[in-house]
Amino acid sequence: MQDDTIFGKIIRREIPADIVFEDDDVIGFRDVAPQAPVHVLFVPKTPIATLNDLTGAQAGLMGKLVLAATHYARREGFAADGYRIVMNCNRDGGQTVFQLHLHLLAGAPLGHFGARG
Ligand code: AMP
Repeated sequence: MQDDTIFGKIIRREIPADIVFEDDDVIGFRDVAPQAPVHVLFVPKTPIATLNDLTGAQAGLMGKLVLAATHYARREGFAADGYRIVMNCNRDGGQTVFQLHLHLLAGAPLGHFGARG
């Protein structure tokens, strides 16, 4: 659960992070190992381990997560140039932190992605 993840510690300000967005439901901070010139993680403050754990009642929270990222893209001026949103789930998806999060990647043409490009 979130309390046991590094992202929970960031939400509770127990460890430092470069926080670039926050509202009542979502926090956004820069990834420590950026894969693009802009690489921000958006994390719901509610503990949800993986996409598989999302319930119908949390559909609105997923919308808020995406809207936080699109708001940030407009705010930072790269919405029109474009960006990529990625969410990894479990082993084959490459998930390493088991608190739901959305990667926002931008700042350069990103090319193809995936195991079969
Ligand atoms: P995922 O592989 O989708 O679970 O993504 C986890 C991401 O969290 C990776 O891109 C890591 O670089 C990033 N990450 C891990 N620890 C931290 C941290 N303390 N602050 C910021 N990003 C982190």
